[in-house]
Amino acid sequence: MNTTKSKQLFEKAKRYIPGGVNSPVRAFKSVGGEPIFIERGSGSKFYDADGNEYIDYIGSWGPHLFGHNPPFIKKALAEAFEKGTSFGAPTELEVRMAQLITELVPSVEMVRMVNSGTEATMSAIRTARGYTNKEKFIKFEGCYHGHADYFLIKAGSGALTLGVPTSPGVTKGNAADTLLADFNDIESVKKLVYANKNNVAAIIIEPIAGNMGVVKADESFLVELRNLCNEENIVLIFDEVMTGFRVAAGGAQEILGIKPDLTTFGKIIGGGLPVGAFGGKREIMEMVAPAGPVYQAGTLSGNPLAMAAGYAALSYIKEHPEIYVQLEKSSIYLENGFKENLKAIGKNYAMNRVGSMMSMFFIEEPVNDFKSAVKSDTALYGKYFHEMLKRGIYLAPAQFEALFISTAHTKEDLDKTINAHKESLVAVL
Ligand code: PLP
Repeated sequence: MNTTKSKQLFEKAKRYIPGGVNSPVRAFKSVGGEPIFIERGSGSKFYDADGNEYIDYIGSWGPHLFGHNPPFIKKALAEAFEKGTSFGAPTELEVRMAQLITELVPSVEMVRMVNSGTEATMSAIRTARGYTNKEKFIKFEGCYHGHADYFLIKAGSGALTLGVPTSPGVTKGNAADTLLADFNDIESVKKLVYANKNNVAAIIIEPIAGNMGVVKADESFLVELRNLCNEENIVLIFDEVMTGFRVAAGGAQEILGIKPDLTTFGKIIGGGLPVGAFGGKREIMEMVAPAGPVYQAGTLSGNPLAMAAGYAALSYIKEHPEIYVQLEKSSIYLENGFKENLKAIGKNYAMNRVGSMMSMFFIEEPVNDFKSAVKSDTALYGKYFHEMLKRGIYLAPAQFEALFISTAHTKEDLDKTINAHKESLVAVL
C-alpha cells in the first residue's frame, strides 16, 4: 500500500500542529506507525491522500451512524447554508431540535445545545453543583468524559484518597473535587458517598462504556446507583455522548430502563458537525442561565448548520426505527464472523458488543470493568490493527475504543472485514 502523501503530510503537520494532529489518538501513538491522512468519505468507506480505500469502523469516532455523507444530511446542510451560517440569535430550528430530543429521550424535559461532548459534560457537572449546592462529584475509572480539567483525574492509592491529576496543567485544586470509583462496583461508590456525606453533587457514568473498549454496566449496579442518588440527593448523569442515538433511539437509558437526572450528548446528535447537548429534569435544567443562575453560554451554540445536520440525523432516526434492527443484524453478523475466526485458531479473546458498538480485547478472560480491560495485550492489538489496515480495514488505532458499525456497511463490507480479521490474526499470532 502506497502511503507516500500521508507520510509527507504528517512530516509537514508536525511542524505546525502539536504531534501533527488535532486530537491525540489520531496520531497512532498507541499502535505505532504514522497516521494516514483522509481526503474524502462516502458511505461505509473513506479514502486517503494516496487514493487508498478503507472500510471505516471509527465513523469519526461515533457520529456517522449512517456512514459518510448520507444524502439526507447533505441536503439539509445545503438548504441551511443558503440561509446563512450563523446568527447569534435564536432560530426555529433550535426549538424543533430541542423538542425532538425530548421526544426521543423521555428523561430529557429540557435541553441546552453546546458544541462538543466535553462542553456537555462540564456544563452538566456545573449545573448539578449549582442545583445541589455541593462541590464534589464521582466518576469511574476507565470512563472518559472529555478533556475538562477535573475529568482528567486518576485515583491515588486507595478508593478514599483524593484524585491526582493525570495531565500536567490540571491543578491539585481541580483534582480535589473529583472522586474516583470502580466501574460496576457499588461498594466503591458507597464508600465515597458516605465519606463525603452531603458534599457529592453528581455521579457521572457512561452506562455502556466505550472508552475502555465496550463494557456494559450491570443493570443491578445501575439500579443501586439510581437508588443511592435518590437517597443522598445526588444528580445522576448518564454520559451518552457515545451511546446516545446509537444503541437505541433513546440511548443506553432506553435499553437499560433507568432514568438519569441529566444526560449528555455529542457525536450522532450533530450529524457529523461539532455539536453536544445536555439535558434532563426540568427542575434541574431551569437552573441554567438565563432561566437560572448557573452560567453557561456559547457564541456558536445552536449553530444553524450544525442544527440542520443534527436535526436531519435525529429525524431520520425517529422516522426509521427499523435502522436499529438492521444495525443489530449487521453487528451480530460481524461478531459471529469474528468469533468463528477465533474458534478456528483456538483463541478465546473477550468480545463485548452492545448494538453497533463492539470491542475485541486481546485477553482470554471476560472483560467487565476497567481492571480486566487493561489486562489486554495492547502490543498485539497494535500489530493486529496494522494487519487490518493493510487489508483496507480502518479500526480505532487503540485497543480501548469501540468499533462502530453503520447502516452503510454492506454484507460485502462485513465479509471482507471478517476475512481480513482471520488473515490478520494468523499473521500476528
Ligand atoms: N463523553 C464520552 C462518553 C465520549 O466518548 C467523549 C468523546 O469521545 C466525550 C465525552 C467528549 O466528547 P468531545 O470529544 O466531543 O469533546
